[in-house]
Amino acid sequence: MKKTVQDYIRTIVDFPHEGILFRDVTTLFADPRGFRMCIDQLLHPYAGLEIDKVVGLEARGFILGGAIAHQLSTGFVPIRKKGKLPGAVISQDYTLEYGTAVVEVHDDALASGEKVLVVDDLLATGGTAEAGIRLVEKLGAEVVGCAFIVDLPDLGGRRRIEALGHEVHALCA
Ligand code: IMP
Repeated sequence: MKKTVQDYIRTIVDFPHEGILFRDVTTLFADPRGFRMCIDQLLHPYAGLEIDKVVGLEARGFILGGAIAHQLSTGFVPIRKKGKLPGAVISQDYTLEYGTAVVEVHDDALASGEKVLVVDDLLATGGTAEAGIRLVEKLGAEVVGCAFIVDLPDLGGRRRIEALGHEVHALCA
């Protein structure tokens, strides 16, 4: 039978902490058929839509976002953890299981009114994606979609992103 995207993802037990089942997409990225299938399926709902920029969330969102931007012939914009971007930035903090984190984007990376597709490998609580969306919107750009390989439905990320008024596209749970 034909392999699905999910078939290429492996689960690592107790990473990065005991009790966590980590979805490892590096096995998907490493497989030429799997990676192409993944990019094609992530793009599928957006066929014919106007998209000016793809925004990727650190770090696996960069791998997906670069490939998607190339396919769409758009630019790519990274959202990075605090202190990594060299130019002037705007910041957004968000809550983690223990404490808070900050993500940043260059303050000139998106123009007002630009249409943006936000991508990352995995949606869990939705905190990271929400922070990314808020940065995009602070720059006056418009989120036209949020695409993930994996959505872990029990953790509420989809509901959180939909509550912000954005659709979630995910390939597997
Ligand atoms: P959230 O902010 O709780 O939605 O967590 C999503 C972020 O954490 C994304 O940037 C993911 O790359 C990362 N992440 C959380 N759990 C996993 C996992 O099991 N595999 C890969 N990435 C994960």
